[in-house]
Amino acid sequence: MSPNGRPRLAIVGAGPAGAFTALQLIRHGDTFDIDLIERLPTPWGLLRAGVAPDHGEIKMLDETFERRVLNKGCRFFGNVAVGSDLPHGELMRRYHAVVYAVGAQTDKSLGIPGEELPGSMPATAFVGWYNGHPDYRNLAPDLSGETAVVIGNGNVAADVARMLTRDVDELARTDVADHALAALRESNVRRVVVLGRRGPAQAAFTNAELRELGRMAGVHVVVDPADAELDPVSEEWLADEGTFTARRNVERLREYAAAPGDPSATRTIELRFLRSPVALRGTDRVEAIDVVRNELYRDERGALRARPASDATEAIPCGLVLRSVGYQAVPLPDVPFDERSYILPNDRGRVLDPATGEPVRGVYAVGWIKRGPTGILGTNKRDAEDTVGSIVSDLRHGLLNEPELDCGVDDLLDGRAGVVTLAGWRAIDRAELAAGQASERPRVKLVEREALLQAAGG
Ligand code: NAP
Repeated sequence: MSPNGRPRLAIVGAGPAGAFTALQLIRHGDTFDIDLIERLPTPWGLLRAGVAPDHGEIKMLDETFERRVLNKGCRFFGNVAVGSDLPHGELMRRYHAVVYAVGAQTDKSLGIPGEELPGSMPATAFVGWYNGHPDYRNLAPDLSGETAVVIGNGNVAADVARMLTRDVDELARTDVADHALAALRESNVRRVVVLGRRGPAQAAFTNAELRELGRMAGVHVVVDPADAELDPVSEEWLADEGTFTARRNVERLREYAAAPGDPSATRTIELRFLRSPVALRGTDRVEAIDVVRNELYRDERGALRARPASDATEAIPCGLVLRSVGYQAVPLPDVPFDERSYILPNDRGRVLDPATGEPVRGVYAVGWIKRGPTGILGTNKRDAEDTVGSIVSDLRHGLLNEPELDCGVDDLLDGRAGVVTLAGWRAIDRAELAAGQASERPRVKLVEREALLQAAGG
């Protein structure tokens, strides 16, 4: 126990899942001393570096986390990578419970020729670039071509399509990274083609995100009426198993298909369906993407899948390809990992030993590393409730870890160069907010790791 008699709990990863976990543990009363350990110098994970800058109202959730987590005594240790800087074993020597909330830190690839050509990149990197994530500061996407192709039709695809087409003067009022704002001002991209490998009924957009695409000034959403028609397999699927979201999406896509062209629009977003990329082509950089037309079929388990309907390919000339086919988690040294599902094997957040199937005492998971990269931001709230329920129950039943040392990570991190404490984060926050106020923006982000550390030190 801590000197005050409370057990110590470390949350690894200060994104929304980690923050909601801290918030709910605090709400349970003065039960744990909580340390939030984060690999970046700044907290709030995808809230800061994933949520699109034009979704400012969602980003304001950071105020809740500040008020109800950091102001309530939860400590922050930023710029500390658990795994490399700080081994899992050292946490287990010090904490009664360790909660992994590390998300899904990499992207899925397509495995097609030309994928690595310059001009082709994961949408997740592009998202990090416009959001000022220090790891993507130097991405420099080439926006000189007229056409960009986005592969996949989930909400990340919607985000990047909006960011490529939205009026830059509107973006200038957000917290978009300065380097991205400057590049988007010079962008020649006028046409964004979004490719879904399955049909309109299987689009992964949520309704609000699909609607929003059609609400941007100067942007026309193009859907070929033939693409908006459902094939018989999808008709049956929508009638029998389709969700409300899928039905509403199909209606919206039909509305887009029926809408007259907008002569005042200077940018278009084309939503295409039943199309898969088979190769990216170009000499020194991507110049075109070859796509095939798909048909849907039911696999042996009844799931609707896409397969090529013929060998015929269509070439779409383009200068930028963003693959937006989902995030993927990476294993953590010494922590169990399910290589098939890319999650920490768990039962209601209790991480399981793969050999025995029994919970590993004191180790928990929450968020995308627990359930996979699905759900909107608010999904993490319910997910955190589930994991917190397991932790609190284990505390009551004496099932937490029994650490050999009677301290948190202070002995390991005190005096270590570059560790950002709460005071350091507050200094970064003040600097960014002050710069934002001066230019009538929510904040101006510091985007270089060095600048962040310098601001934290100051
Ligand atoms: P996602 O929703 O899982 O969408 C991934 C898309 O990639 C799907 O259309 C999927 O098609 C497609 N895909 C996967 N593998 C493919 C392949 N090999 N070839 C072609 N297409 C492929 O993932 P996401 O867009 O990365 O979003 C991740 C999560 O964050 C989602 O839950 C999302 O809702 C959430 N998010 C929410 C917001 C928001 O609320 N505004 C913003 C961003 C992200 P299939 O369906 O055929 O597999």
